[in-house]
Amino acid sequence: MSGPDSVRAMTDCLFCKIVSGDVPAEIVRESDRALAFRDINPQAPTHVLVIPREHHPNVGELAAADPGLLAEVLREANQVAVDEGVAGEGFRVVFNTGPRAGQTVFHVHAHVIGGRDLNWPPG
Ligand code: 5GP
Repeated sequence: MSGPDSVRAMTDCLFCKIVSGDVPAEIVRESDRALAFRDINPQAPTHVLVIPREHHPNVGELAAADPGLLAEVLREANQVAVDEGVAGEGFRVVFNTGPRAGQTVFHVHAHVIGGRDLNWPPG
């Protein structure tokens, strides 16, 4: 995202404030372009959010704007699962996309969820 939209997004967006350090978070991994931190309301023993530092509203817009950055988010998500010790037993990577899917923060984030049995289909 660039131009006035990007300025407005960075001012208003909770996850942009985590990137800038204005809102604290328990960060578990950092790369040049991505950040991973624990969800404030964990739904499983491992529940980490992986975001690009740059503001993109959802996974579809990130995929269109910068597929390489989406690939980095997914690499980091996998590495979180390895670091948390859940990669072997199984984990889930979820992008809630849009209000009907439960997206509440409109800065794209991968939920990395594991450490317990996960039901299918999800609720
Ligand atoms: P969504 O519902 O958009 O897919 O996911 C947003 C996630 O962000 C939720 O799981 C919610 O618990 C988490 N969250 C909301 N506010 C904060 C916060 O201030 N810090 C952290 N670490 N997580 C947050």
